[in-house]
Amino acid sequence: MKQAMLKSPNICHIEWDQRKQTISSKLQRNIGFMNKQNLLPQNDIHRRIIHLDMDAFYASVETQRNPELKNKALVIGQDPRNNGGHGVVATCNYVARKYGVHSAMPAIKAVKLIPKSELVFVRPDFKKYRSVSAKIHSFMHEITDKVESIALDEAYLDVTHNKLGQNLAVQVAIGLQRRIRTELGLNSSFGVSYNKFLAKMGSEYAKPFGRTVILPYEAKQFLGMQKIEKFPGVGPKTQEQLHEMGIYTGADLQKVADFVLIKKFKKMGYFLAQHAHGIDLRPVIADSDTNRKSIGMERTYEPAIYTRDEALTHIRHYCKHLEDELKKRNFFAQTVVIKVRDNDFDTVTKRRKLTKPSNSQYDYYDSARELFDKTSNFLEKGIRLIGVTVTDFKKDEYQTINLFDY
Ligand SMILES: [Mg+2]
Repeated sequence: MKQAMLKSPNICHIEWDQRKQTISSKLQRNIGFMNKQNLLPQNDIHRRIIHLDMDAFYASVETQRNPELKNKALVIGQDPRNNGGHGVVATCNYVARKYGVHSAMPAIKAVKLIPKSELVFVRPDFKKYRSVSAKIHSFMHEITDKVESIALDEAYLDVTHNKLGQNLAVQVAIGLQRRIRTELGLNSSFGVSYNKFLAKMGSEYAKPFGRTVILPYEAKQFLGMQKIEKFPGVGPKTQEQLHEMGIYTGADLQKVADFVLIKKFKKMGYFLAQHAHGIDLRPVIADSDTNRKSIGMERTYEPAIYTRDEALTHIRHYCKHLEDELKKRNFFAQTVVIKVRDNDFDTVTKRRKLTKPSNSQYDYYDSARELFDKTSNFLEKGIRLIGVTVTDFKKDEYQTINLFDY
């Protein structure tokens, strides 16, 4: 770890100037109608996102606890020699990685690759890792509550607006990395950029103890340098297909027309085309938000409502609003609930489960209308309050593609 500290931090760039970023947004608004040149959504370069990834997390926690392990090839997992050859590598330190060992590899393979004198197996202690992770998260929450955890050792932070009032996202990231280092004795890497996948590619880029900033105007060049398998979602099969098309790097990918990628790889191709041009509109979804149980909207009416048409107009409006809120979070809801109150303060709630999770206002509205019609006796007395809530959330890793949007 000391060695990593000695390495001078790899800050590629300085922070971008917010004033300069607004210029292109008007231009961008004019692009985007359906034609073969541009099937992609308008980019958003105004956010500042950090991807923080702990370096060999479990192994580093173990070394912190027992410094003698430092120069050993440390593998976290059960020793297959005591175990009938079973087990996988949960993770390993950088010494073990030099021998070609990596996470998810059969542990028996690590035994073959690493000289006996250097190899040490340590059983994972998830309770300990969770408690260290909670400390790291508490540091993050002093910066922003827009923290999306991907794993115990990995999270996105949206620091566009942050509690420190710090405009320079790279300074926020350096502060966090330093604090984790001084208070917990652990190293991490970060990437800073204007969207999630670039931030993640950044943290990957200079690992371990890496610091990478990718500015909007550099994204295309940075992506051009990357091998195709570094792009999110490109597995061995897609990689092979891309190689057959003569695509080996991001630069090769950037030359391919969007519709060619979409035609060949469908949804996957659509994201690949976006990524090639540095587009990723997924928001950072705060962990507190994912744990949210429902999103709803309700309003009281004075004077009361006496007609079905008027009530349904409001309900339709709520459903549109709910669709927007769910799309912002990449959520899908499977249950719709309505609440109706009349002039006598009689209140009823009714719920309906959709056949599948949805983020469409039309699905919500169809259910809400049916539920409302079961309460139509309320109209006689006059309706004082209407509420629509969606619940039973599912989260999608990527936005759904709806080509009719274009
Ligand atoms: Mg990690």
